[in-house]
Amino acid sequence: MQQVLTTAKRVEAVRLRIAEACRISGRSLGDVTLVAVAKGFPAEAVREGAAAGLGQFGENRVQEAQAKLPLLANLSPRPTWHMVGHLQTNKVKTALGLFDIIHSVDSPHLAEAISRRAPQSVRVPVLLEVNVAEEAAKHGFSAEELPAQAEAIRRLPGLDVRGLMTVAPMTESPDQVRPVFRRLRGLAESLGLRELSMGMTDDFEVAVEEGATIVRIGRAIFGERSGP
Ligand SMILES: *Cc1c(COP(=O)(O)O)cnc(C)c1O
Repeated sequence: MQQVLTTAKRVEAVRLRIAEACRISGRSLGDVTLVAVAKGFPAEAVREGAAAGLGQFGENRVQEAQAKLPLLANLSPRPTWHMVGHLQTNKVKTALGLFDIIHSVDSPHLAEAISRRAPQSVRVPVLLEVNVAEEAAKHGFSAEELPAQAEAIRRLPGLDVRGLMTVAPMTESPDQVRPVFRRLRGLAESLGLRELSMGMTDDFEVAVEEGATIVRIGRAIFGERSGP
């Protein structure tokens, strides 16, 4: 019971912070979707989140989701599941059975694999991941290559390219990543894409101020992760 209250309180605090960022930037609260990233946390944590009113959850590994989601099959209403981590092409089929939207399409190869595996007459919602700061250790298209790649990917059947996603660099202050979020928004606008998945525990308010339509928040909702 104590746990339930704790998660509910954290969710409430996050919602208030999102609302304040919306107020500051003149945005409407309904334009920002909160995705609770449950990686590293057990199914029970997701249940607590759902009890606190959350309906959208994220995972970053297929294997972890494959173990966890069946334990949550009786959640009602059924949550929307977001794949936010790097996806290997050999896991696409499994991922499509688990997730409703894939945030992390980071190569033409992966896009083609999803297109081939998409169920008949379904267009899988996807976002294209952009490595805005061009960090060597991160996945994603460079800002430079994105327009041409996005155009090609949008022609593939079985995919519905809804927007862009980025993981901002780690910095000392969230304000330092503002240009990264601003750049992603500029790219999305120039491509006519609506969704902007940006902002995590350390930087979500800045992301909302810069136009995020989806924030992906783990630690601020579930607590610190014990693993890596
Ligand atoms: C883990 C993760 C998040 C959430 O990170 P927190 O810092 O726990 O809020 C968001 N997006 C991706 C891609 C992640 O891997």
